Amino acid sequence: MSRFGYATHLSCRECGLTRELGPYYACADCFGPLEVAYDFPALTRSDIEAGPHNMWRYAKLLPVPADIAQRPTTEPGCTRLIRADNLAHALGMRRLWVKDDRDNPTHSFKDRVVAVALAAALEMGFKVLACPSTGNLANAVAAAAARAGIRSVVLVPADLEQQKIITTAVYGGTFVLVDGNYDDVNRLASELAGEHEDWAFVNVNVRPYYAEGSKTLGYEIAEQLGWRLPEQVVVPIASGAQLTKVDKGFRELASLGLVDDTGWHVFGAQATGCSPVSAAFAAGQDVVAPVRPATIAKSLAIGNPADGPYVLDTVRRTGGAVADVSDEEIIDSIRLLAATEGIFAETAGGVTLGVLRKLLAAGQIDPAAETVIINSGDGLKTLDAVAGALPVAPVVRPTLESFREAGVE
Ligand SMILES: *Cc1c(COP(=O)(O)O)cnc(C)c1O
Ligand SMILES: [Zn+2]
Repeated sequence: MSRFGYATHLSCRECGLTRELGPYYACADCFGPLEVAYDFPALTRSDIEAGPHNMWRYAKLLPVPADIAQRPTTEPGCTRLIRADNLAHALGMRRLWVKDDRDNPTHSFKDRVVAVALAAALEMGFKVLACPSTGNLANAVAAAAARAGIRSVVLVPADLEQQKIITTAVYGGTFVLVDGNYDDVNRLASELAGEHEDWAFVNVNVRPYYAEGSKTLGYEIAEQLGWRLPEQVVVPIASGAQLTKVDKGFRELASLGLVDDTGWHVFGAQATGCSPVSAAFAAGQDVVAPVRPATIAKSLAIGNPADGPYVLDTVRRTGGAVADVSDEEIIDSIRLLAATEGIFAETAGGVTLGVLRKLLAAGQIDPAAETVIINSGDGLKTLDAVAGALPVAPVVRPTLESFREAGVE
């Protein structure tokens, strides 16, 4: 066991070339993305169940040091898996669950990936935690760096939601608004990563470690179902990493014998205003042509998704699909989830539920099969998206007469 736990090396997702663990993210031979590989120990369900009530219960399955749970981290994970019977009834489904990642420390699934990136970055001697972000990552990086006592440098598009600007700035790191879209911000980050050797850009130069954090969503879903896999899972797509890693998490649990390999279908969700992966899926292509994003789902607005081709592989291998929904459908689904289950999702959650509804209507998702949808973020961070769509509440004087006149009885 090393400072990266049971991780053994990095391996190229394209050509399979391997190299030692370190701050590498692209294959020296073909420039393909690198992925962490492991030699897992024998592991039982009770080993995991005896762990802390956060994602470090799965530490042995991640590229992090053995004592990670004792270090200062934001302790993400173990978010609720909510049985959504009202929503299932509304959709004519038999058994539906919402994996609700609002419960994380900065209210999105990004705390998971940042926690792994930070742990690995510190092991590799980086001094600063940095990122280009569509918003939620900014929150997670700024908070995690504050907790670890190191500097953060966060770059976001200047037109980001006000809520996400405040919920990043409050942590006190270096915070820069870039006049451009996410893909412009990402390019600037890559240039900065080349100039500052001790800056770990979580989703650029330590991306192989970062991406592994999303496996914990898959682990938790299985454990919370009583060590079973769902038949269908619907996952939002920005870069596509989350989707591929939920699948990787399921595969690892099955190969370690922690769950029965009952098979599963992975479905991907995008907003129509930024749907390059959905377009490639529909066209039967293996490559993803970049687009210029225009959608209210800003946390998913990556026009050139790094993991796009691997999303297509995953979805096709598991017999799933990718689809996209309009901004109106996103808002409608945010309201449906709130009204049926009391869950206020951010726009990404509206995308995921919207795509579930679309694929049900198209007969591509089976209403009788057990299904999990991921709500990756919190509606409190995207208030403007729904504000205009909600009915205006009547204002009354504090008298019975005035209340009666309002006609709400
Ligand atoms: C970043 C993000 C995603 C997608 O993440 P990828 O791994 O880049 O596909 C989904 N939902 C929310 C709320 C996000 O912030
Ligand atoms: Zn390669």
